[in-house]
Amino acid sequence: MLLDTFGRQAVDLRVSLTDRCNLRCTYCMPEEGLQWLAKPDLLTDEEIVRLVTIAVRDLGVREVRFTGGEPLLRPGLVAVVAACSELEPRPELSLTTNGIGLARTATALREAGLDRVNVSLDTLDPEVFRTLTRRNRHQDVLDGLAAAEAAGLAPVKLNAVLMRGVNDHEAADLLAWCLEKGYELRFIEQMPLDAQHGWDRASMVTATEILDLLQARFALTPEPSARRGAAPAERWLVDGGPGRVGVIASVTRPFCRACDRTRLTADGQVRNCLFATGETDLRTALRSGADDAELAGLWRAAMWGKKAGAGIDNPEFLQPERPMSAIGG
Ligand code: SAM
Ligand code: SF4
Repeated sequence: MLLDTFGRQAVDLRVSLTDRCNLRCTYCMPEEGLQWLAKPDLLTDEEIVRLVTIAVRDLGVREVRFTGGEPLLRPGLVAVVAACSELEPRPELSLTTNGIGLARTATALREAGLDRVNVSLDTLDPEVFRTLTRRNRHQDVLDGLAAAEAAGLAPVKLNAVLMRGVNDHEAADLLAWCLEKGYELRFIEQMPLDAQHGWDRASMVTATEILDLLQARFALTPEPSARRGAAPAERWLVDGGPGRVGVIASVTRPFCRACDRTRLTADGQVRNCLFATGETDLRTALRSGADDAELAGLWRAAMWGKKAGAGIDNPEFLQPERPMSAIGG
């Protein structure tokens, strides 16, 4: 099992399939993009499946989420999902995506065994979308969402980050739209994980502010059945339910004490935390002929060293070198 010295067990694996992306969200990466990982440094599809197999079969991982960068840019995605769906015990398989290309792939992904999808969409306004992502692809995301639902990847979840003065005026509109469509909306506090290190505490829209914006239009009551547990989102029933909304307050109400995550980057590094400053290199070990037991041992050791918390609010907090897009959000 993947245990740490604070008694937590990691059962939720986030696998980054690529650091590349077809959007340039301002809170994530600069307009010119980043120095992408070189192809030989990326794990192959077979290497990814081998490591996920070890995680599921030998290390107690029960959920696998594919992310990036933009995971739909990975040509082998459907095959990787299909291979992971054959594992015993069968893990839950999900995808976090910006939705571009999902219109084409949703059915194939569902048939390959994908259980759920989270689509990131921060605005209902195509112009705001263009400002925020620096690309004119709003309709592609809407088409992707519709296709995901039609393919049975339900309930479709929607992730939104609010930026002050850019899209924070849309908080309640986004919720109204999601309730109407039957999508489950979760707001994520902006975190200091952007490549350009432009995050600043004062301009971040906090969970408290998000709730205030929503409560101006809706009555929110804490969801009685929602024991937060390891789930990062705190959830509320909207106007008595059944519609609900979540807020992931990673900065102002961190959930590190219940964290159950482990991460694998597209270049084969294990990270025990989004905010970890160190990594464990499984790729080199794997390519040097390490057997499954050795790889599992390295992974266990990586998790054992997990810190108590991310410490974003500590004065000595240091943003990790890798940005969110290269870690896998
Ligand atoms: N490209 C895919 C997408 O956008 O869904 C997957 C990767 S993206 C890094 C995963 C999630 O992280 C998205 O919901 C995105 O909005 C969120 N994200 C990116 N940068 C962030 C930041 N600085 N703070 C909070 N969330 C962020
Ligand atoms: Fe791409 Fe996702 Fe980052 Fe936006 S948040 S730039 S879609 S990786």
